[in-house]
Amino acid sequence: MKIANVAGRATVVTGPGQGMDVASASAGAFGPGLPGLFHQWGEFRAWVAGVTLGAPEVTFTPGELGPPSPSPVQVFAVGLNYRDHAAETGAELPPEPLVFTKFQSSLTGPATVVALPTGTVDWEVELTVVIGREAVDVSEADAWAHVAGLTVGQDISERTLQLVGAPPQFSLAKSYRGFSPTGPCLVTPDEFGDADRLEIGCAVNGVTVQKSSTSELIFPVPALIAKLSAVTRLYPGDLIFTGTPAGVGIGRKPRKYLAPGDELVSYVEGIGELRQRFVAQEGKS
Ligand code: ZN
Repeated sequence: MKIANVAGRATVVTGPGQGMDVASASAGAFGPGLPGLFHQWGEFRAWVAGVTLGAPEVTFTPGELGPPSPSPVQVFAVGLNYRDHAAETGAELPPEPLVFTKFQSSLTGPATVVALPTGTVDWEVELTVVIGREAVDVSEADAWAHVAGLTVGQDISERTLQLVGAPPQFSLAKSYRGFSPTGPCLVTPDEFGDADRLEIGCAVNGVTVQKSSTSELIFPVPALIAKLSAVTRLYPGDLIFTGTPAGVGIGRKPRKYLAPGDELVSYVEGIGELRQRFVAQEGKS
């Protein structure tokens, strides 16, 4: 099942650009927004399994979509979680996941225009997990049962602020307005043949810059949920940006960053794509 956030309303996707409004179809039992749905996730899945999809029908364009989880209690992000990306940054493989946050205010839907605060803004396509059940001390074997679904995320990163001091400050540099696009929809784990092996990549102006597989993750989704839930309580709707593969701009020789007019398209196999167009921030060059 695919679920989209159509102008704030939870919508089961039934075809390209069309879906079933959850609140209308359930006579208000579920929805209208996504956040409430995650708190009734088990009941919602049971209800939707018995519904004939199709009516009442709504249509939507990518620009009308919001984030699949618009108000998570926590947004986790993981640095250096692909071997090839760790190598291109010159960093050693981390013995534990390197965890930071992207602040909630940076979240957007999948099709946006993003203002560039500086000339050193970089791309990082990431498989992004949406939690569907409260999780405390969850084992790797039980981890997928706590996932509502997967979506595509971009961990857009302003490298100057990120690397201005030692240690680096990931959270603020990756939380400029519009720096966390997610979407286009949430896809439940049962939709994937192998949810631990999905092609992932992105292109700038049609030129592929990142292309890998989530099978290359140093700490895959079950390991991340086990390790995070050993420390924190994961809540329904929480997000985990799982890390980015090789091919970021700062790892290139010469380095390459996003410029006004650039278009960034990011995808994960079986989920869909994000599309960001970049413009100069007014008053800055
Ligand atoms: Zn990242």
